[in-house]
Amino acid sequence: MQSSEPLAARVDQTKERIAKACTSAGRSPETVTLLAVSKTRPAGDIERGWAAGIRCFGENYLAEAAAKQDALAQLDLEWHFIGPIQSNKTRAIARRFDWVQSVDRARIIRRLGEQRPDEKPPLNVLLQVNIDDEPQKAGCTPEDIDALAARIAEFPKLVLRGLMAIPSAEHSPEQTRAAFARMRRLFGSLQATHPAIDTLSMGMSGDLETAIAEGATMVRVGTALFGPRQDVG
Ligand SMILES: *Cc1c(COP(=O)(O)O)cnc(C)c1O
Repeated sequence: MQSSEPLAARVDQTKERIAKACTSAGRSPETVTLLAVSKTRPAGDIERGWAAGIRCFGENYLAEAAAKQDALAQLDLEWHFIGPIQSNKTRAIARRFDWVQSVDRARIIRRLGEQRPDEKPPLNVLLQVNIDDEPQKAGCTPEDIDALAARIAEFPKLVLRGLMAIPSAEHSPEQTRAAFARMRRLFGSLQATHPAIDTLSMGMSGDLETAIAEGATMVRVGTALFGPRQDVG
């Protein structure tokens, strides 16, 4: 059930959580970007989020995202694709999104790199890492990161910005923290060869404080902003 609390209040609460976590970690709150995950939410929720000051929105399903993007074309929004990517969807993703956080294999890199329209700025790309090695989950292995990062660098219409991960939902808080800590180390290693990367996307409604403590620069928040989803995914 949707809370009756106005979205603006939830945005403020979430920003407060981020600010507190940053203070505890000795970091400035500006070092963490709030990505509002709007999958399954109507366009009106995004419009209200925009009115409350949010500019970055994450979507998991292309057709659903496209309808909302068309309805909200007049707003200055930054769109992030965060769902599993099918090859036959890359052309539309490359055209419609500003960031793709779920890049995890060479074929998708090549297609996005070739299909990003010339008139648009380079597509911002994160490599998704399957940090808990879950069989059904998208993401590359930690061992794949260097080769995939090198592949991205071959395409002028792609720019590697960093890494993304979704730790196992089965984890205890300690296991989640350990997974975030592994991501932080992988990010540090990648920075050694790609010094321009600046984005470590990890942490959701339930664990954003832990993610920030372990170095997240972007948290992806759905439920805490928009209330519980009706969907099963
Ligand atoms: C749905 C989703 C989120 C948001 O999860 P909440 O628990 O609702 O905050 C974050 N990242 C990805 C990749 C998602 O699919």
